[in-house]
Amino acid sequence: MINKINWNDAIFFFDVDDTLIDTFSNSLVASDVISDVLTKEVDRNTSKLITERFKHFFRLLANGHWSNGSVNVEHEKVMARITELQRPVIELYGSIRKWSREVLLTVAAEDFNCNLSDSLIYDAVDKYWEKLASLSTPKQGVLALFAEIKKHNRPIYLVTGSDARLRRNTEGLFTYDPVESEKFKINRMELLKDNGISFDGVSIGDPEDKPHVDFFQKAINMVQEKSNSQIDNKNIIMFGDSYLADLQTPKEKLFFGLVVLFHEGQDKSIEESERYISTGDLYSSLTYLV
Ligand SMILES: [Mg+2]
Repeated sequence: MINKINWNDAIFFFDVDDTLIDTFSNSLVASDVISDVLTKEVDRNTSKLITERFKHFFRLLANGHWSNGSVNVEHEKVMARITELQRPVIELYGSIRKWSREVLLTVAAEDFNCNLSDSLIYDAVDKYWEKLASLSTPKQGVLALFAEIKKHNRPIYLVTGSDARLRRNTEGLFTYDPVESEKFKINRMELLKDNGISFDGVSIGDPEDKPHVDFFQKAINMVQEKSNSQIDNKNIIMFGDSYLADLQTPKEKLFFGLVVLFHEGQDKSIEESERYISTGDLYSSLTYLV
């Protein structure tokens, strides 16, 4: 039995990628622009092979993100390589930025003995993000859900991880400027408004990223500052596509009122445990408001 949340108090937190928009499948489409850029330094065939490897690694990371902590040997190996390249990030911020496309492209190129120049990596990744941003249409049901929330005059916040725009240093390792990275993602989020996804605020995982408690606390602090009042976490509903990344901390450490796992294709909503449901239809979560 799940306690309902009062519409008058409800505050909505949304993960963005693969919750509101199709980042995974569109990322595979957007990756194809990388190949053309690489031909400035690498022959066409190798460019294609590197791009396919980049997509393969991205799929591995996404599957790890959606798993419930189960280990895949190849995933672990790629993560070890990413971790090694991000030593400076760990030293400064305590953890790696898993989703850095710059690092993923570097690792993919290494497999074909290619050491791409810094400027080529940045150019390829810029073009990839540009293409991906142009493909950011809302998932089915998202606009209806947002319209219903707005009809009740309740606030919507995007609470989203870092895009991790990393830069390579002279030792060939990657470093991180959280301010630059955050600015980049805020701009990407602003573009969503052109597609009908309107929101009251956005909190980005730079430098504290999910699932760390500080990442979610940063979002709560933002809401409190904006509303100039103390908020009660039991009025927050958090939506995400990964239990481990998006929902576990809000549920177990911050005691949000409800966490909603979006699971593409799931035809029934399931009450998983107290304050936790999974669904293939985000709109249906509104039955838990009264
Ligand atoms: Mg997501």
